[in-house]
Amino acid sequence: MSREIYDLIIIGGGIAGLSAALYTARQGLKTVVIAMDIGGQLRYASAIENYPGIESITGLDLALRIQKQAVAFGSEIIIDEVTLLNKKDGLFTVGTRRGNVLESLSVIAACGKAPKKLRVEGEENFIGRGLSYCVVCDGPLYKGKKVVLNSFGENGIEALHLLAPIVKELIYVVPTETDVSIGEAMKYGNVSIYSGYRIAELHGDGRLREIVVVNKYGDREAIDSGALFVELGFETQIDFLKPYVDINEKGEVIIDRYGATRTEGLFAAGDLVNIPYKQAAVSAASGVIAALSAINYINRRKGLAKSVV
Ligand SMILES: Cc1cc2nc3c(=O)[nH]c(=O)nc-3n(C[C@H](O)[C@H](O)[C@H](O)COP(=O)(O)OP(=O)(O)OC[C@H]3O[C@@H](n4cnc5c(N)ncnc54)[C@H](O)[C@@H]3O)c2cc1C
Repeated sequence: MSREIYDLIIIGGGIAGLSAALYTARQGLKTVVIAMDIGGQLRYASAIENYPGIESITGLDLALRIQKQAVAFGSEIIIDEVTLLNKKDGLFTVGTRRGNVLESLSVIAACGKAPKKLRVEGEENFIGRGLSYCVVCDGPLYKGKKVVLNSFGENGIEALHLLAPIVKELIYVVPTETDVSIGEAMKYGNVSIYSGYRIAELHGDGRLREIVVVNKYGDREAIDSGALFVELGFETQIDFLKPYVDINEKGEVIIDRYGATRTEGLFAAGDLVNIPYKQAAVSAASGVIAALSAINYINRRKGLAKSVV
């Protein structure tokens, strides 16, 4: 029995990976997307109002639309976590947590990034229902409201400057008592500060209603607010990629302008890579660049003419 070899394995089901799949499947390449979920960060975006051509859409609906297009053109989708990547004799082998082992001529890594969570009980239930991990994206939805922000450092300063001018009241919860962002918070008359506190509990029935904060002495306060922004940074788990890519000081995979990494046949796209401005349209475009480069690479490997400019 002959081995099944994919033209392309795409790691990641966010907008970068799905946009890439749409292009490569439409071009007739045997494409599979392996992803832990469909939508990635878009699943946390309750309203996208800045994606060209669409006035307003939930992040999940936007992702599902692109998935539908990719699948209609023949892309396969496997929900699983990639844990292993190898390249030998010009072939990539991708292994997953559930024991799938797939081979391909080319790979696009579009693993994005995930916001650091609070890790408190019930957190998942409030995402998009009062809890957001992105001030730039969702801040304007809470104009004139009472809002809680949990952050620190440079991220905290940026989030404060975005939120304080537009909300009615901002409660800033910062984990240490000496954080650089505290001075900035004090410049605003509508900001009250809980320094040395962390978020301990979230309460609400369907939507977020109350946020409980606690400090190291065990002092607890229940804050009556239906809006919480958590900006504690992002994390990626890309150990399996590290032998094949260069990574910059921000933890981003370094690509050239064609989406190529330092390993031939391995491309990368989206929030994972060293392009500025982490936004949906930017990630989609980056996925398309990686896809077109992968198409050309695969056609060259098969002895076919370059099919896209
Ligand atoms: C709350 C919030 C609101 C936002 N609002 C907006 C907005 O209004 N407008 C806008 O333009 N942008 C917005 N953004 C930013 C936008 O969502 C991101 O820039 C974009 O979705 C990134 O897409 P991506 O495909 O590069 O990565 P991600 O969305 O991070 O997707 C990564 C994918 O890779 C998968 N993955 C990761 N590791 C593995 C692995 N080992 N194996 C298999 N799969 C893996 C994940 O499961 C996921 O499917 C928002 C972000 C957030 C968090």
